[in-house]
Amino acid sequence: MEKRMKSFLASYEAKVIPLYRADALADWDANITGTDAALAASEKASFELEKVYTDSKSFAELKEIKESNAVLDPILARQLELLYNLYLGGQVDTTLIAERLRMETEISKKYLNFRAKIKDKELTDNQIEEILRNSTSGSELQEAWEAHKQIGPGVAEDIVKLVRHRNLIAQKLGFSNFHEMSLKLSGQEPAEVTALLDELDNLTREAFVKLKGDIDSYFAKRYKINASELQPWHYQNRYFQEAPDIYPVDFDKYYKTQDPAKLAATFYDGIGLNVDAILAKSDLYEKPGKNQHAFCTDIDRSGDVRTLDNIKPDVYWMNTILHELGHGVYSFYNDRSLPFTLRTEAHTFTTEAIANFFGNLAKNPVWMNKMGIIDEKESEKISGDSRKSLRLEMLVFSRWAQVMYRFEKSMYENPEQDLNSLWWNLVEKYQMIKKPEGRNMPDWATKIHVALYPCYYHNYLLGYLLSSQLHNYITTNITANESFVGEKAVGAYLKEKVFMPGSRYYWNEMIEKATGEKLTAKYYAKQFVQ
Ligand SMILES: [Zn+2]
Repeated sequence: MEKRMKSFLASYEAKVIPLYRADALADWDANITGTDAALAASEKASFELEKVYTDSKSFAELKEIKESNAVLDPILARQLELLYNLYLGGQVDTTLIAERLRMETEISKKYLNFRAKIKDKELTDNQIEEILRNSTSGSELQEAWEAHKQIGPGVAEDIVKLVRHRNLIAQKLGFSNFHEMSLKLSGQEPAEVTALLDELDNLTREAFVKLKGDIDSYFAKRYKINASELQPWHYQNRYFQEAPDIYPVDFDKYYKTQDPAKLAATFYDGIGLNVDAILAKSDLYEKPGKNQHAFCTDIDRSGDVRTLDNIKPDVYWMNTILHELGHGVYSFYNDRSLPFTLRTEAHTFTTEAIANFFGNLAKNPVWMNKMGIIDEKESEKISGDSRKSLRLEMLVFSRWAQVMYRFEKSMYENPEQDLNSLWWNLVEKYQMIKKPEGRNMPDWATKIHVALYPCYYHNYLLGYLLSSQLHNYITTNITANESFVGEKAVGAYLKEKVFMPGSRYYWNEMIEKATGEKLTAKYYAKQFVQ
C-alpha cells in the first residue's frame, strides 16, 4: 500500500505542481492588472486545478489505500489524509455544484445591487457606517441602522434555500450537514472548535461584562440617554463587530513621514527572517486597475512568495505590510525537503496567527520606539491608551465572532428553525446588545458572510488565540523584549517550530510541539483580559 501511495503521489505531483503554479500566477496577474483577459485566464486556471480533485478514479484509489490502514510512514500517511479530504470535497455531482454556484451568484447580485434607502435617498455601506460612527441623533442612527437591515427580507429566503442545498451536498458525501463538512474537510473537528470557543467564552465573559458597562456609560453620555435605553444602533457599527473609539490614539500622525515597507524589511531582517526576496517579487503601491486590498501568495511553494499591497504612510498600511509579510515568511521559510503537499501552513488560521502576531506591532508603542518612529517619552505617554484600545478591540471582536460561529452551526443543523430568534438570542447572550422591542426580522441575513463566506469566521478567532499563545511562549521562554526588535532567536524559533513543519502535523499537534500545549484560550485571556 505504501508503494501504491508513492506511485499515486508521483503522478499527482507531476499533474498538480504545474497547475498550482499556473493558477497562482494567473491570479496574481488578474489582481495586478484587473483586465478582462487576465480575469478570464485566472478563472480558467482555477478551474483546471480544481478539476484534478473531481477525478473519481483517483479518489477510489485513495479510498482503497486509506481504508487498508496499511500506510504507516508518517509523511505518507499525512499526505494521504490531506489528499483524501481534497478529493472527497471534489466528489460532488457537477449538477449540484452548478446549482449551488447559480444560487450563490443570485444572492451575490442582490447584495451588490442593494443600497440602503432613507427617505428615497440611496446610501452605500460606507455612508451608513459614517452616519453610525458620527451622528449623535438617536432618530438618525435608528433610521440608518434600519435602512441597512432592509436587505434582510430580500435575501433571507434565498439563503435558507442555499443552506438546504449545501446540506444536501454534504449529506451526499456522508456528513450530517454542511457546517460539519466544511470544518472536517479543512481538517478541524467541530467538537474541538466548539470546546475552544466555550473556553474563550468562559474566560472573557466577566471582563466583557465590565467593559460593556464602560462602553455603555460612554455611549449614554455621548447620546445623553440612560444606559438602559441604548439600542443596537448606538454602537457606531452595523454589527458591533468593531470597538468604539473610547481611548483614541492618533497613530497615523507617527507614520506620516515613515516608509512602512522599509520599516518592515528592517524589522524582519533584524529577527533573522530577511524578506528582501519576497519584496523584490511583490507589488507594493497603488496603480490603476489593481486590487485595492492586500494579500500574500505562495506561487510555487519553492521560494516564489509575493505580496500585493497599496502602501501609504499610515498605521493601517504599517499593520498590513507587517501582516502580509508574516504570511510571507511562513511560506518562504518552509522546509524544501518536504513533499509539495506538506509545504504549506498547518491550517489557514495558523498563518493568520503569524500575520496578526506581527501586524499588531504597528500599534505597539515599545516597538515604535525601538524602530525609531517615536521617542521614549511619547511611547510611555500613549502606552496606557494603546493597550486599552487593543484590549477593547480584541474583546469586542471575540464576542461578535462567537455569535457568527454559533449561529452558522445551529442554522446548518436545523435551517427550519426560527432563525430570527436564534440570531437575536445569540446577540443578546454574547454581545449583550438588546433586541429592539418586538423586532422580528431576518437581521442575520444582512451579514454577507452568512450567505457567501460560510463557516469560516471562527478561524479569525482561532488565529488570535494562537497568536496570543505564541506571544506568551516567546516572551516567557525566548525573550522578555516584547517589541522583538533585533531578537534573532524569535525568528529562529518560529522558523523551526512553526514554518518548517508545514502541514506535516495536524494543526493542534504542531501547536503542542511548538508551545508545549494544545491550542487554548488561556493566553488570549492572559494577554487581553487580566
Ligand atoms: Zn491575513
